[in-house]
Amino acid sequence: MSYSIAIDGPAGAGKSTIAKLIAKKKGYIYIDTGAMYRAMALYFIEAGIGAEEQDKISAAVQDANVTITYENGEQNVWLNGRNVNGLIRTEKVSMMTSLTSANKAVREKLVELQRALAQKENVVMDGRDIGTCVLPNANVKVYLTASSHVRALRRYHELEQKGESCDLVEIEKDIIQRDKQDMSREISPLKQAEDAVPIDSSDMTIEEVADAIIALCK
Ligand code: C5P
Repeated sequence: MSYSIAIDGPAGAGKSTIAKLIAKKKGYIYIDTGAMYRAMALYFIEAGIGAEEQDKISAAVQDANVTITYENGEQNVWLNGRNVNGLIRTEKVSMMTSLTSANKAVREKLVELQRALAQKENVVMDGRDIGTCVLPNANVKVYLTASSHVRALRRYHELEQKGESCDLVEIEKDIIQRDKQDMSREISPLKQAEDAVPIDSSDMTIEEVADAIIALCK
């Protein structure tokens, strides 16, 4: 039986950085489910479909083939045979993703893919609904948070390092809006699973959070 660690939480809580580190330390596969929703959103943007056009989104899902491969522990996301890793982290894609991820057909398709991956391998999977929906029997469940200000600051520094111009106030506003959308949608909203361990990473280092989660693994 494969072992699974589920990490859920709001945008920018450090989930992917921490999940990647845990996967490296434990020799598990890291599955970034947000990247899958982002690739799907990119497909809708490129197809000229608006976030409010739910029927068109539902119909287009079958034409968007999202796949995942791994190279030296790094996840590559492919959209219809094209590597889209470098295209899915913009603010425009983030906001579109938060809206289109509420669509039932989108979620059904990606949850199936995520479950299939977790069945084959020991995984650290991060997202919004991993502990509540994708892997309800995960061996370890964590709900990772940090204040919206800390989360915005982290994102700001990340963009600054990449040489991209950004505005801290705008970033915090976007983060708060995205969380609101993710928490209030009808299907699989972001919420803490009853059996998840809450961790607030605001005043913790990446290593401290990773070690706290590894300590939960039996
Ligand atoms: O984690 P990340 O910020 O990359 O996720 C982007 C968006 O994808 C989230 O704001 C959320 O709307 C959606 N998502 C989701 N369920 C997941 C992972 C991400 O709805 N398991």
